[in-house]
Amino acid sequence: MHDQNPVFLPGPTNIPERLRQAMSGPSRDHRSPAFARSLVQLLADIKPVFGTEAGEVAVFTASGTGGWETAITNTLSPGDRVLAARHGMFSQRWIDLCERLGLEVQVIDAPWGEGVPAEAFREALAADRERRIRAVLAVHNETATGVTSDIGAVRAALDAADHPALLFVDGVSSIGALPFHMDAWGVDVAVAGSQKGFMLSTGLAIVAVSPRARAAMETARLPRCYFDLRSMLAAGRDGSYPYTPAVPLLDGLRESVHMLLAEGLEQVHARHRHIANGVRRAVAAWGLELCARRPALYSDTVTAIVVPRDFDARALVNHASEAYGVSYGIGLGAVAERVFRIGHLGHLTEAMALAGIATAEMAMRDLGYPVVLGSGVAAAQHAYQVRARGTPEPA
Ligand code: PLP
Repeated sequence: MHDQNPVFLPGPTNIPERLRQAMSGPSRDHRSPAFARSLVQLLADIKPVFGTEAGEVAVFTASGTGGWETAITNTLSPGDRVLAARHGMFSQRWIDLCERLGLEVQVIDAPWGEGVPAEAFREALAADRERRIRAVLAVHNETATGVTSDIGAVRAALDAADHPALLFVDGVSSIGALPFHMDAWGVDVAVAGSQKGFMLSTGLAIVAVSPRARAAMETARLPRCYFDLRSMLAAGRDGSYPYTPAVPLLDGLRESVHMLLAEGLEQVHARHRHIANGVRRAVAAWGLELCARRPALYSDTVTAIVVPRDFDARALVNHASEAYGVSYGIGLGAVAERVFRIGHLGHLTEAMALAGIATAEMAMRDLGYPVVLGSGVAAAQHAYQVRARGTPEPA
């Protein structure tokens, strides 16, 4: 029975039945004209989800991490310097990846729970008079801490320093769920994955590149072969693929993009905010704190909750899984024992969110947390009740 429960992971997320079916079609010839036409259409239709008209999108077999590697190896050369902030597990992993690929990473540390430090970026960029920094890396939504950063402010930092570095943004846990404005923010490479906002199984990296990033590919000298974007981007023009694509996932992605566009991207973003608002109210009713330090940073796709002293967050997540068959996100890296995460990303209704809040309460009570059963549920109900919709979130 437990496999009927929704997951409250910040990825992989719940897969709607419509997408499950779309991903289970018969084998099709990926070299047929019909497939090529549908691929060209898909790669055009997906652009609004990234907030781009000028960019091109490549979709290929990998996960988000493969998308990062592809972004880096296609645009940079050995020894190039990149500027990155470290303020959570995913920004940390991106830095590791760059170092292992032979780049020089200028790291700015910020507390976990803070956003990308745009002001420190501005200073670092202004100090780089020789223009050695080739790219700036920013994680839009730090899934480990439940923090959404202001990418517009990162762009403003680059502009204020009049710096030509490329801007790479990890949108793995934001794109398809939170507002993302690739063109308006001047993002050069944006990376997403199929198992988050797109509500599909894991297996596709979805990478959008600006014309500047496209130009950088011609001179970049880091080795790449399977992940060479120049051959993969041809799919957007003539539907040709350099290798056998993951056809079922592409079928799912086509349907997923239809769903997002039919609902309307603004409505998708509003829905995420609405569900997140209820979860945050529940956490406040439990008397617990968020890892994100300020309301301006609160993520609408994942809430990272700091457990009371003397409690082990990992034990809570394991207990919820074993006793109730409900999955929450574990704490990662520097906040591993201190934080558990409620993912509210992708396919989730108010009723599903309430089940997740109620089960978290039971699991916490089982382990002796000082929370009152029903307190979080009631707080979220107040946010979700039809008559309450549109009332502002308490500060
Ligand atoms: N970046 C962020 C913000 C993520 O949340 C994740 C995964 O959770 C990744 C990157 C890595 O993606 P993947 O696990 O699909 O390789």
